[in-house]
Amino acid sequence: MEIEKFSSRHLLKIRLKTLYIIFFFFFSLLTHAEENVVVVISMDGVRHDYPNLLSEGGFNLISEKGSVASSLVPVYQSSTFPTHVTMATGVTPDKHGILHNGFFDRNRGFYSYSPDASWIESEPIWSLLERQGIKTATYFWVGSESDWKGTKISYSKAPFNGRISEKDKTKQILDWLDLGPKERPRLIMTWWHGSDSIAHQSGSTNTKVINQLKKQDKELLNLITEIERRGYWENVTLIVVSDHGMSDVENYINIKEILKNNSIDSTLSIGPAIGHIFLDDLTDKELAISVLKKESNLIVWDGSQLPSNYNMFHPARTGDIVVETNAPNMLVTRKNSNPPKGMHGYNPIINKEMDGIFFAYGNRVSVNQIDKVSQLDIAPTILNLLDLETPSYMTGQSIELD
Ligand SMILES: [Zn+2]
Repeated sequence: MEIEKFSSRHLLKIRLKTLYIIFFFFFSLLTHAEENVVVVISMDGVRHDYPNLLSEGGFNLISEKGSVASSLVPVYQSSTFPTHVTMATGVTPDKHGILHNGFFDRNRGFYSYSPDASWIESEPIWSLLERQGIKTATYFWVGSESDWKGTKISYSKAPFNGRISEKDKTKQILDWLDLGPKERPRLIMTWWHGSDSIAHQSGSTNTKVINQLKKQDKELLNLITEIERRGYWENVTLIVVSDHGMSDVENYINIKEILKNNSIDSTLSIGPAIGHIFLDDLTDKELAISVLKKESNLIVWDGSQLPSNYNMFHPARTGDIVVETNAPNMLVTRKNSNPPKGMHGYNPIINKEMDGIFFAYGNRVSVNQIDKVSQLDIAPTILNLLDLETPSYMTGQSIELD
C-alpha cells in the first residue's frame, strides 16, 4: 500500500515536472519571438527645427504617434565623425579619440575620413553586442566599416559609397528584419544623407534644404509603412537622430596665414570651429598665442588648459594651442573662391543651431513630447531597449520613451 501511494505521488510529480518543462519551453519560445529590434537612422545635418517645416512624411507621423525631443544636443566639435562615434560608443570625443572628421595624432600621424576603426578608442555598441552573441547590422555608420579589435559585425555594408540611395538602404533594412529570429540582427544602424551637403552649399535656410529633406522624409514614411504591412511593429523600435545642425557663415579666418606671417612653423589640424596647432618648436608658444589673440572672433587656449566641459583633451590629438570660433565665422587654411554658406562644428553650449533631432517610434514608445536630450544618451537608450545593462563608463542616460 505504501509503495503504491509513493509511486502514484511520484508519477504525479513527474507529470507536473513535464508540464513545467513544456510550459517553460513555450514561454521561452514566446519571449524569444518578442525580442526587441532597434533600428537607428541618422540623417546628416538635420537641424532640430527642420522637421517642423515638413508635413506629410515620416516625421509628421512620428510626431503624432511617437516620441519627439525638442532637440538632440551634439558633442563638440559638432561634426559628422565625432558625433556619430559618440552616439555609437556613449562617450565624449576625448574618450573615443575622434576629435574631428580629420585630425592629427602625435604618434600615428594624420587621420582623415578613414574607415579604419582602430582609431576609435572606446568600444562601439555593435561590438559590445556581438561579444554577447547578439547580431548587429550597420549600413554606413561612421566607424562600422571595419572590425573593432577583431569583433565582427554580423551584417555590415562597406566600403562607404555616397551614391547609394536611401531607397536601397530601406530595402536592406527590411530584408534584415525579414530574417528568421535566429538570423535577424537586433540592432540596425544606418546613415542617411539628410540635408548636410545642400545646406553647406546654399546656407541653412535655403528652400533647397527642405526640398532635399522631403525625399528622405518620404522614404522614412515608406519604411514605417512597410514595417507596418509586415506586422513587425510589436517587436521593433525606430529611432531617428541627426549628427548636428547648421549655421550660416560669412567670415573665414585663415589660421595658416596668421602663423606663416609670424614665421611660426607648425602642423595644423583645422576644423571649421576648432583648430589644433602642433608647434614645431614649443618655445614659439607664447608668441603664437599672442598673435592669435589679436585676431577678432578667435578664442585661443593652451591645449592643456581647455575647459573640461569641452571634453576635447586627448593627450596625442589635442594641439599645443587650440583656437575656436563661432558662426558666422569659420576657420580655414586656404583661400576658397566658393566658400561654404552653411557650416557646423560649433560649440553646442553657445550655438543652439548645432542641435539636431531625436524621434522615436514603435515598440515601447508612447506618444510623448520630451525635453532636449544628449547624443551621450543614444547608446544607453539602445541598450535599454534591448534589455541590456549600460556599462558604467557611459555617462548618458536612457531616454524615457514610454
Ligand atoms: Zn557637414
